[in-house]
Amino acid sequence: MKIPYGKHTISQSDINAVVDILRSDYITQGPASEMFERQVASYCDSRFAVATNSATSALHIACLSLGLGPGDYLWTSANTFVASANCALYCGAKVDFIDIDPLTYNISIEQLKQKLKNAENEGKLPKIVMPVHYGGQSCEMAAIYKLSQLYQFRVIEDASHALGGKYKNTKVGSCVYSDITVFSFHPVKMITTAEGGMAVTNCENLFNRLKLFQNHGVTRNECLMEKRSKEEIWNYQQIVLGFNYRMSDVHAALGLNQLKSLNKFVKRRNEIAEYYTDNLEYLNITCPKILQDILSTFHLYPIRVKKTGKNSVSQKWLYNVMQDENINVNVHYIPVHRHPWFEKLGFKKGDFPEAERLFKEVLTIPIFPTLSKQEINHVIRVLKRHLS
Ligand SMILES: *Cc1c(COP(=O)(O)O)cnc(C)c1O
Repeated sequence: MKIPYGKHTISQSDINAVVDILRSDYITQGPASEMFERQVASYCDSRFAVATNSATSALHIACLSLGLGPGDYLWTSANTFVASANCALYCGAKVDFIDIDPLTYNISIEQLKQKLKNAENEGKLPKIVMPVHYGGQSCEMAAIYKLSQLYQFRVIEDASHALGGKYKNTKVGSCVYSDITVFSFHPVKMITTAEGGMAVTNCENLFNRLKLFQNHGVTRNECLMEKRSKEEIWNYQQIVLGFNYRMSDVHAALGLNQLKSLNKFVKRRNEIAEYYTDNLEYLNITCPKILQDILSTFHLYPIRVKKTGKNSVSQKWLYNVMQDENINVNVHYIPVHRHPWFEKLGFKKGDFPEAERLFKEVLTIPIFPTLSKQEINHVIRVLKRHLS
């Protein structure tokens, strides 16, 4: 079997936790999903959490909760998974992108500043900016927060890669610099529920709205219900158009047990990353750089193939060589605006050159907690053989 670029870690106690739930009274909407929400909120120092059936769903209701709609703009990174942009389109809003910093591959603060200046002149400021913590490294949130105060936009962190990460002594998800933070529990992410996601926030009002949109737009809170005569009132009302985006207790039971291993997973990924960097940094490639005051979760370990210099090779060539050596490297990401669907919306090649350059040079090599020493050394050996 090929070594994958990412993989879930499932223990016997994870299996037991899921089996226990299957034998219990509730397999959905029971105590496990609520407990999972409380524990994730507590883990990342935020007040409220809403568990969903995917991060994509959580991003969608995060946008809705902040009132994103037709005529509005959401800006996100050009270097991300399509879900970061699609959530705005689901709301009937428009999406635009911010080019990346060539060092961190996160959104460039300089580009964001310039784009905001231009947008202000044209009267097209975004309602929401969505930084994406690429590979598990937090964006420069203090600078983004400052700009949000200046230009009056709201901030949703797409932290799909970054549960367990830190920024300037705050946990990713503490929402010190944002309105809402979203996590993914897809199997390649930091912890898994098979499919699943979560939105966390410190604002009670936003929490109530997230909960509404997650659960059919239905409330049992009398204060939120429309006043009706005594005979007409029952114990719930639909007051907005919501969705069934809930997480089942079966999934939540897995998440709850996985959460116990999160710190261990982050530590192991950082050890592997350090070992990779120690062994690879003198080759003609660029290893990932983590800024000061940031703890990355190393969801990804992106290397950048250089087109010039000693022993330079092309990304495509190295990709094929690694596949032949049973190493399933990947490319993160095709810049969102280069997908046919987004080109139909008017984006084109050349719009976000740094993200496009990364796309042509990047390979994400295997990194996950159970990657064995032999596998790690195999990856290093193959890279050394072909790059030196
Ligand atoms: C994985 C991912 C998502 C979507 O997560 P799902 O839980 O699969 O819906 C969104 N944004 C980014 C950056 C991701 O990596």
